[in-house]
Amino acid sequence: MPGSLTDTGVSRLLEWFEASGADLPWRHTRDRYRVLVAEVQLQATPVDRVLPYYANWIERWPTAEALAAAPLGEVLAAWQGLGYPRRARNLHRAAQAIVSDGWPERLTDLPGVGPYTAAALRCFADGEAVLPIDTNVERILARRFPEGWPGTPEGAGWEVGQALMDLGRLWCTARAPRCERGCPLRGGCLAADEGVVAEVTPKRRPQGRYEGSLRQRRGTLLASVSSGGTPAVEEDSEAAESLVRDGLVFQVGDRLHPIA
Ligand code: SF4
Repeated sequence: MPGSLTDTGVSRLLEWFEASGADLPWRHTRDRYRVLVAEVQLQATPVDRVLPYYANWIERWPTAEALAAAPLGEVLAAWQGLGYPRRARNLHRAAQAIVSDGWPERLTDLPGVGPYTAAALRCFADGEAVLPIDTNVERILARRFPEGWPGTPEGAGWEVGQALMDLGRLWCTARAPRCERGCPLRGGCLAADEGVVAEVTPKRRPQGRYEGSLRQRRGTLLASVSSGGTPAVEEDSEAAESLVRDGLVFQVGDRLHPIA
C-alpha cells in the first residue's frame, strides 16, 4: 500500500536503518551546501575514501560563500587524490552561482548537478519524499522491488533515501549481494527466493582499464602541477590539452601551470 508502513519491505528497511544505519558526517546536516559537497564527493568515490576529504573540505570551506571566495587552484589542490577533478571545478562554480544568484528553482541549472544530485539535494537536504536513484538504488529496486517502489511513508523521505544507500553499499552490493548472510530485506525478496538476483541486476557498461588510461594520465599531470611542478605539454599532449580544455590548468608557452 503506497505511503504506508504496512508494506513490509519499506517498514523493515526503515526499522533496520534506525537500528543499524551508519553514522556518517553528512547525515548530521540538512544544509544544502554541505549535502551538495558530500554528494559530489561521493559520485564515483567510495564512502571510506570520501570521509577525510569531506571533513577537510567542510573545515576549510564551511559555506558556499567561503568556497566561492577560495582560489580555484586551492580548491583543486584540496581535491587531489579523490579523482575526477572536474567535480571540484564544478563545485566551485556552483558555489559562486549560489552566492551571486541564490539556489536556482531548477537545481540541475547548477554546474555539475545532474538529475541524481538534484534529487539527492531534495531528499537529503529538503527532506522531500524523492528517491535519489543512483546505481545502488536502481539495483535494489530491480532486485527487491521489481514491481516498483511501493511508496515512501510520510515524513520519511530522508530515512528511506539514506537507508537505501546503506543497503546498496553493505548488503545488496553489485557483485556479491549478501542475501543469505543476514540481508535485512531477505524476507519477501523474490529475486533471492528464485535464485535470479544476477539475472535481474541491471547491466553496467564495463569500465575500461584505469592503468594507462587518459584518466590516469590526466591525474599524473595534474598531481605534478598541484605539487608545484610545471610539466611540459609534450610529456603527454593529449592529457595536457584535455586538462587545459577543462579549465583545470593553464598553459604558458609549452608548460602547464596551476590555476591561481
Ligand atoms: S536478499 Fe539479496 S537481492 Fe534481495 S535485497 Fe537482500 S541482498 Fe538484495
